[in-house]
Amino acid sequence: MRLYTFSLVCERYFPFTSRIRHNTTQRTIIMPDEEKRTIKTIAVLIAMEAEAEPLISSFKLRPCPKSHHHAPLPSVVRSGEIAFGEENKAVEIVLVTCGQDSTHSVDSVGTVNAALCAYEVLKTHAPDVLINAGTAGGFQSKGCEIGDVFLVSEVKFHDRRIPIPTFTSYGIGAIETLKTPNMRAEITSLKSGICSTGNSLDATDVDREMMLQNDASVKEMEAAAVAKVCEMFKTPFVCVKAITDIVDGPHATETEFLENLAMAGRRLQETVPKVLEFMSGKSVADL
Ligand code: SAH
Repeated sequence: MRLYTFSLVCERYFPFTSRIRHNTTQRTIIMPDEEKRTIKTIAVLIAMEAEAEPLISSFKLRPCPKSHHHAPLPSVVRSGEIAFGEENKAVEIVLVTCGQDSTHSVDSVGTVNAALCAYEVLKTHAPDVLINAGTAGGFQSKGCEIGDVFLVSEVKFHDRRIPIPTFTSYGIGAIETLKTPNMRAEITSLKSGICSTGNSLDATDVDREMMLQNDASVKEMEAAAVAKVCEMFKTPFVCVKAITDIVDGPHATETEFLENLAMAGRRLQETVPKVLEFMSGKSVADL
């Protein structure tokens, strides 16, 4: 066991929020030496079945015996014990997709279901790390190209505008992801940037202004909500997004998204296993 001050714990996992809380209360809490413990279980949260399918088949994940469904949520949970490399460093992967909306029969994308799925998977499986993987729109003004994969550095909302001074930063909800300097150095194909979350696939002029203020490189519909739930559970949060469409380009988002969804799924299939392999056999402190 190690003694942590509350602010130290926040600084490690959620550096942005800890800065805000720094001048308020500081309480001492006791935490197990989690950072040094070998990572045993990794939760991977993916909103859409099509984004997850290549990973499910390449890892041969099966319906999770502990929680295939979390009724009444539509989420679907698959899992498997995966051994990486010659040393066979096994790690349990719990992959949750948001599932089909029962009224509209489409994937339940967006923040509501993502937060609920995150809550259930964190509560039921207590993973050592949660990775939100998926697709996103990218800004060409930030150097994004279709097919790029981002290891997101920070998440923020762009559609929670609350122009009351004490609520403004709550609305933006900025949370830094887990710092993974060793993984970044190893998987050099991963780009770095801020991800802005909102509940729409398209973007109004006001959204665009907010995303500019958020210094966003990528835009999607789940990450900031999932990060918030991870913050509540004090679970390290990692975010990997493959670019399907260019937000500030000449083509309509929905057309570009649908054209590139399968390709982005394959990019996730190439990249997420590298991230999982890097994590397996290591502790959070080693990342
Ligand atoms: N018509 C699509 C709808 C998918 S919604 C379909 O059902 O096939 C878009 C999903 O992809 C969300 O989960 C979101 O996180 C991600 N996404 C990809 N590009 C996006 C963009 N430019 N803006 C917002 N979300 C995007």
